[in-house]
Amino acid sequence: QSKPQARVDGSTGVSFDDVAGIEIAVEELQELVKYLKTPELFDKMGIKPPHGVLLEGPPGCGKTLVAKAIAGEAGVPFYQMAGSEFVEVLVGVGSARIRDLFKRAKVNKPSVIFIDEIDALATRRQGIFSDKTDDLYNAATQERETTLNQLLIELDGFDTGKGVIFLAATNRKDLLDPALLRPGRFDRKIRIRPPNAKGRLEILQVHARKVKLSDSVDLSVYAQNLPGWSGARLAQLLQEAALVAVRNKHDSILQSDVGEAVDRLTVGPKRLALDLG
Ligand code: ATP
Repeated sequence: QSKPQARVDGSTGVSFDDVAGIEIAVEELQELVKYLKTPELFDKMGIKPPHGVLLEGPPGCGKTLVAKAIAGEAGVPFYQMAGSEFVEVLVGVGSARIRDLFKRAKVNKPSVIFIDEIDALATRRQGIFSDKTDDLYNAATQERETTLNQLLIELDGFDTGKGVIFLAATNRKDLLDPALLRPGRFDRKIRIRPPNAKGRLEILQVHARKVKLSDSVDLSVYAQNLPGWSGARLAQLLQEAALVAVRNKHDSILQSDVGEAVDRLTVGPKRLALDLG
């Protein structure tokens, strides 16, 4: 009944070096890492463990990456689930999954729990099922509320799970149930904004490490000229450029390959299909 289970990474292998262009206080994140590395020290000093951390921002800008980097830097297991995986019509399944997730993370503490798209499980009541019968609507709403209550119970009882940090991400903070945002549940909220030109360059540089880029490539041109591009899209750009380079039989990625990759990503699959004949 408790499937699907959280995906667990022994440790993520992601570090803060993999995260670029995000103007958030690294010290704030370092403190979480320090806590995960030595929870007993914090306890001895009487320092209250951090409760939960809410990462908020648009898609593809590095929320999951930041969460993974915290676990990776501390070298602790990372339990990941999406909010939508808790949404079930069957009574009690969602809350059982929450209990199971926290139990497994506590057994293997210190550890990190990460729920992506938390808004899917913790939205305030809306008329999403209004075209269905009242009974169905009520059952779905009630089930969702039971699941959310279970999450609140786990968060409130967090002292018993010392050494576990709960991270959640959303790009719709406005939809979240106010109960979840009450003091004590998330004691930190970190806003992750889309990268500016400097951030875009830093992100391109991080991802350039993973491909074979010719020394003559000037990434700053793309950083300047691709406003609105997320980290995910910029990472995709260099992957695409590598494919273009292979297709053009180049030994390494040239400036013209990156340019062609920009075209392909902006014009989209239609053009790609024509290109490929
Ligand atoms: P979503 O809301 O869609 O889940 P997200 O904010 O969690 O998005 P990630 O999953 O962290 O975004 O980003 C996807 C991928 O894009 C990352 O694995 C990474 O390769 C790249 N990426 C995104 N942001 C950054 C960044 N700030 N620095 C480096 N790489 C990034």
